[in-house]
Amino acid sequence: MSAAIVVGSGPNGLAAAAHLAMSGVSVTVYEAAPTIGGGTRTSELTVPGVLHDDCSAVHQVAAGSPFFNSLDLSSHGLRWLRPEIDLAHPMDSGAAAVLHRSVEATSDGLRGDGKAWQRLFGPLTAQFDNLAADFLRPIVHLPEHPITLTRFGLNALLPATVAARRFDGEQGRALFAGIAAHSMYPLTRPMTSAIALMLIAAGHKYGWVVAEGGSKSITDALASIVTSHGGIIETGVRVTDLRDLPPADIVMLDLSPTAVAEIAGSALPARVGRAYRRWRYGPGAYKIDLAIEGDLPWIDDACKRAGTVHLGGNFEEIVAGERLIHRGAMPERPFVLVGQQYLADPSRSNGNINPIWAYAHVPHGYTGDATEAILDQIDRFAPGVRDRIVGQFVRNTTEMYRYNVNYVGGDIITGANDPLQIVGRPRFALDPYFTGMPGVYICSAATPPGAGAHGMGGYNAACSALRALRR
Ligand SMILES: Cc1cc2nc3c(=O)[nH]c(=O)nc-3n(C[C@H](O)[C@H](O)[C@H](O)COP(=O)(O)OP(=O)(O)OC[C@H]3O[C@@H](n4cnc5c(N)ncnc54)[C@H](O)[C@@H]3O)c2cc1C
Repeated sequence: MSAAIVVGSGPNGLAAAAHLAMSGVSVTVYEAAPTIGGGTRTSELTVPGVLHDDCSAVHQVAAGSPFFNSLDLSSHGLRWLRPEIDLAHPMDSGAAAVLHRSVEATSDGLRGDGKAWQRLFGPLTAQFDNLAADFLRPIVHLPEHPITLTRFGLNALLPATVAARRFDGEQGRALFAGIAAHSMYPLTRPMTSAIALMLIAAGHKYGWVVAEGGSKSITDALASIVTSHGGIIETGVRVTDLRDLPPADIVMLDLSPTAVAEIAGSALPARVGRAYRRWRYGPGAYKIDLAIEGDLPWIDDACKRAGTVHLGGNFEEIVAGERLIHRGAMPERPFVLVGQQYLADPSRSNGNINPIWAYAHVPHGYTGDATEAILDQIDRFAPGVRDRIVGQFVRNTTEMYRYNVNYVGGDIITGANDPLQIVGRPRFALDPYFTGMPGVYICSAATPPGAGAHGMGGYNAACSALRALRR
């Protein structure tokens, strides 16, 4: 029987472990932290019985992940829950822009921009599964659905600021910019539309869903598949040198490229080592988890019913803020994402005490205190928020890195989304997962298709490893 070692138990590490174990490989997972899950963990960070997602929270892409959907995750305890409204984006003037599960309902709400929204997202949503089959793979491959991929690709190449020109109204432009800001890259740069198109189409198809009981349920379901196929998971084991690992046919590294370069040392071919060490990290996240009494006092009714709320004001404000953080300066009003997962999943609350998940985009390695700036942004659209806070837990960029070394400088997506790194991640190669060391693969969010709790990097890397093993 072949043996595999997986270093790191984030969703990609566990997805790789699950696919290898299901393929008859004897798998051992080593995780540095005391608990498994990487970016898909849930903890009682504030008040006992109140469950906070430590990192990932909203799972439209995981719900549309071809690999996850090939597994029977529900029989391993995973259930997706939908808020009444997927996403609200409140404005200072006028009603919030609202993203509904349905393209039509969203278009109706966007009034003058409804037709443009429908024209762009109607076809992409209808073809989402075909799109995911191609987009969630390495760029270099023979497309299964070339027409869908081309239609997507032509729009995806555009800077978000250019793609947003098809919307005239303040709401449509702000809604699109807020979702494009998930790329954490200046929205004036090429390919910043790609993430927005993907998140919006995935959301229209599957909803901006949350996992019942917290994102840790994704971890638990994957781990259950690994162990039910004979895999072993060991926590509290930090791998610092590849030579310390027991012999194995496959080694799967759910790590950042710089970490791979560090633990592999001179075993890595020189050109691969250079490429990994040159990997660039992007802006950071400054996260606040709040326990609040009752609900947030939103002015706009849609925000009261939305699982996710984007706080960044209008299009121009979001574009300016994202440009500033990329340059290393902290905006007075940073872009803030708020999660109200408890609206879809009341099991996360303790009586009337509810968890609020929020983070701001901040400069890479930002060492300042962004707490008040985040609370000010919430207060701008939900005045009086501070009066409802009964518990608070903060992670700045340094603590983010301490929590998970894949988040270098607080970069929660493990690598800047600049066009070169979107195309050649983590380096330009026919097999981007292969490290050049026989049997050793990288499978983290720094590999195609990039960040998110969809497990596709891990699955693709495991497929690549199995192909090589069977050759
Ligand atoms: C605040 C925040 C919000 C986010 N929101 C979302 C969201 O809403 N939706 C979404 O899809 N994604 C979101 N993400 C991104 C998502 O969490 C990541 O893209 C995803 O977790 C990446 O998975 P991964 O398996 O590549 O690595 P990770 O999840 O980073 O896991 C890597 C694991 O490897 C372990 N490890 C590292 N080094 C070693 C070592 N030397 N030895 C042993 N173990 C090691 C780490 O402890 C960690 O457990 C968010 C992330 C953060 C931080």
